[in-house]
Amino acid sequence: MFGLKSDCILDIPEEYYTLADYESAIARWCPGCGDHGILTSVQRLCSEKQLAPENTVFVSGIGCSSRFPHYMKTYGFHGLHGRALPVACGVKFRRPDLHVFVATGDGDCCSIGTAHWIHAIRYNMNITVLLLDNEIYGLTKGQTSPTSSKGTVSNTNPHGSILPPINPIQTTLGVANASFVAQTVDWNPAHLYATIEAGFEHPGFSFIRILQRCPVFQKELFQPVINNPDEITLLTHKNGIQIDPAVAKMYKHTVDHDPSNLHEARELAENLDRQVIGLLYQDKTKERYDLYGAHNMGITPEEKQKAINLELDKFAV
Ligand code: SF4
Repeated sequence: MFGLKSDCILDIPEEYYTLADYESAIARWCPGCGDHGILTSVQRLCSEKQLAPENTVFVSGIGCSSRFPHYMKTYGFHGLHGRALPVACGVKFRRPDLHVFVATGDGDCCSIGTAHWIHAIRYNMNITVLLLDNEIYGLTKGQTSPTSSKGTVSNTNPHGSILPPINPIQTTLGVANASFVAQTVDWNPAHLYATIEAGFEHPGFSFIRILQRCPVFQKELFQPVINNPDEITLLTHKNGIQIDPAVAKMYKHTVDHDPSNLHEARELAENLDRQVIGLLYQDKTKERYDLYGAHNMGITPEEKQKAINLELDKFAV
């Protein structure tokens, strides 16, 4: 039986964005660089979620991975070294309607950008952060980075680095108000995509560390775990990262880790015997600072400015 005429109208989107709608310049990363696969995953996510390019922003700092915005046909901001996160937070605070992504590297995020990283975690704005971690400064041709394993031979430590590395997962989990912490690898496209998708869906600051191959300056770094997936622990849980069982079967070592368990997440992050991949921690109820921007409070930025000035005027002498 036919109903009203409007019942028969198909919901056809005015525009459908394909992968090509997000492809910009040809990526100038080295052949075999893990960044290529990460870029493809992100472009696929944008298409799957039908993110309008004009409502999507990629922000970066400095480093190989920070060339990311150039390769996305969206808005982008290739900023200063270590300053991707404050720029991204500013964009999100003033334009909560935009989809904001950050591409940062281990040098960019965990060295010069550390203070911004810590506070961005605490502010918990709705941003997807991809830490492309190759444990070396690639753009400047091979210096020890804060995440380089002890003993890494580089231009700055020709006899091997002497300090233990920062563990970005452990650090993020240690900051007040952390709400989404995950780890994945660039060479498993199914897990990589599912992790980025979960981070994008998370209402808050999603921090995703991606172990990223640099075949030029860290040729052998991840080869043992690529050759032997038994060196990796896959986190599985109904509230974690969901991947095809056929892909999950690659990994002999699994832990059914509940991502609401912060204590266990920290224990997993601290265990250096084997790399973990999956969702370590998630809490969707954490306070979000971007909800206190003028737009989300239902007022204009001008009205907010006026209210602040009125308050400040009380201190005028
Ligand atoms: Fe990628 Fe390393 Fe080349 Fe940089 S130097 S583009 S990280 S392979």
